[in-house]
Amino acid sequence: MSIKLIIIGGVAGGATAAARARRLNEHAEIILFERDEHISFANCGLPYYIGEVIQQRDNLLVTTREAFQKRYRIDIRNFSEVVSIDRTNKRVEVRDSQSGKSYWESYDKIIMSPGAEPFKPPLEGIDLPNIFTLRNIPDTDQIKSFVDLNKPKSAVVVGGGFIGLEMAENLTHRGVKTTVIEMLDQVIVPLDKEMASIVQTHLMENGVDLELSNSVTSFSQSGNHILVSTSQNKTIECDLVILSIGVKPESALAQNADLALNDRGGIKVSDNLETNDTDIYAVGDAIETTNMVTKQPMMLPLAGPANKQGRVAADNAMGRQTRFNGVLGTSILKLFQFTAASTGLNEKTARQQGISYLKSYTHSFSHATYYPNAERMSIKILFSPDNGKLLGAQVIGKGGVDKRIDVFATAIYGKMSVYDLEALELAYAPPFSSAKDPVNVAGFVAANTLRGDLENIHWDEMADLNADNTVFVDLRTPLEIRTCGVIKEAVNIPVDDVREKLPTLDKSKIYILFCAVGLRGYIAYRIFKQHGFEARCFNGGYDIYKHSVSPGA
Ligand code: FAD
Repeated sequence: MSIKLIIIGGVAGGATAAARARRLNEHAEIILFERDEHISFANCGLPYYIGEVIQQRDNLLVTTREAFQKRYRIDIRNFSEVVSIDRTNKRVEVRDSQSGKSYWESYDKIIMSPGAEPFKPPLEGIDLPNIFTLRNIPDTDQIKSFVDLNKPKSAVVVGGGFIGLEMAENLTHRGVKTTVIEMLDQVIVPLDKEMASIVQTHLMENGVDLELSNSVTSFSQSGNHILVSTSQNKTIECDLVILSIGVKPESALAQNADLALNDRGGIKVSDNLETNDTDIYAVGDAIETTNMVTKQPMMLPLAGPANKQGRVAADNAMGRQTRFNGVLGTSILKLFQFTAASTGLNEKTARQQGISYLKSYTHSFSHATYYPNAERMSIKILFSPDNGKLLGAQVIGKGGVDKRIDVFATAIYGKMSVYDLEALELAYAPPFSSAKDPVNVAGFVAANTLRGDLENIHWDEMADLNADNTVFVDLRTPLEIRTCGVIKEAVNIPVDDVREKLPTLDKSKIYILFCAVGLRGYIAYRIFKQHGFEARCFNGGYDIYKHSVSPGA
């Protein structure tokens, strides 16, 4: 099929679309326009190059213009910005920033992947020197050379999202004392607050200062320093600022061509990624997509969806019928020794959208505890109270987080339930997992509650308890309580002493059973219940308590 395909944007979505289109059609004329110098570079690696974890700048260049051109026979025109689309005459206007010349190029089909640019709020002093944003290689070069040459002592990162926190970690690696200012009362929005609290503690333990529920009101200069003023009337002095408060879609080109946008500027597309013009497809950070769990439209500026959408758009442009099924929002972040990951629905979104759910927390080891370096991970899952269908998962820990979140993501994609999680046969040998994998354990606990074998109480229900008829029972050993922390209201009955203490307990009370992570709470619950007591297991144990009811306990 002879077809002339124009691709706008040459990084994640655009480069993928170009390669896929060529593999499907050896005879197509394919022109890729990229405004900047580099195509197909590793955006996701940029913070790590600044932090010198990635040592060679060349490693950020996944491929070069020449290599890509040779392998895929694609006409790559870098330094070339598409400035308008003339849909009536099916041609685009291109400005070559090196020659300063503009020209028109005709097309049969277009795939747009223009991405999203860092949001810069109109604050006083926002354009001062040494206030940086990070999107591409030139931004990276600027920040890295500033750090290399000036050896800054302090930085402020505005925004506690993925890029902000990655920058905080990498600046810390470079010996720069970093403060993160976040307008919300937590970092990493896809996590629920009590899970984010685990991450926050870890950030502070690694020397990052956090200013939560605080926002920047202005910047000013004092000698070589920047003064950052905040809504809590603080002034933080630093040597550089990284602004990472989110991105906005680069959709002016689409808007000027009368392509339909949502109210956040995201390009609207159909399931096959067609815009409201059947000859123009759009992919990546610039588009609105659909959340597969909530079925609601959403924007998700992540590399995985952009790459997959690039393939789907190329299929459709080349005459295949391929659908993009939507997104779960699966994401992962390394922070010092920790990994934090999430997929699907979180509690905040479930509540906002009126979706009914149950939740459960489990804490399992990454692999068999008798094999060296086993690390505990915290898992929170959301599931349907009706049929146990898995709705979302959040996992935080030091090891094995990545594979568990991917199993949860696969389970949500496959519409599996917590009963399926119980049954999944996952790979096991001591260095890798336990005979009951953390995913299985999350399934056991959730399925136990659905079957009525376990009644949980959650941290956010504690305030509703009637102190007169509830008794908190701490099932941990006295040594654990002394070393890990106390729940003030609780009486201590180590789990192995429960049976002999039962005759001394008042059957008119409700017993709230606590241990470190929940397992002994469950064991004790079964004993209490079968001896005719009213009891609840505090789900997630002291580990969740200290990050939720009593942060910092
Ligand atoms: P981009 O990759 O941004 O490419 C768009 C390109 O289009 C740009 O090069 C731009 O110059 C060009 N362009 C725009 N308009 C025009 C025009 N009119 N004419 C010609 N060219 C044009 N995602 C993850 O999933 N995991 C991560 O760990 C992760 N880390 C990240 C770290 C950083 C520092 C950054 C900046 C992003 C990170 N992302 C991560 C996000 C991920 O990089 C993006 O989701 C992905 O690159 C989006 O792909 P895209 O093709 O839509 O846009």
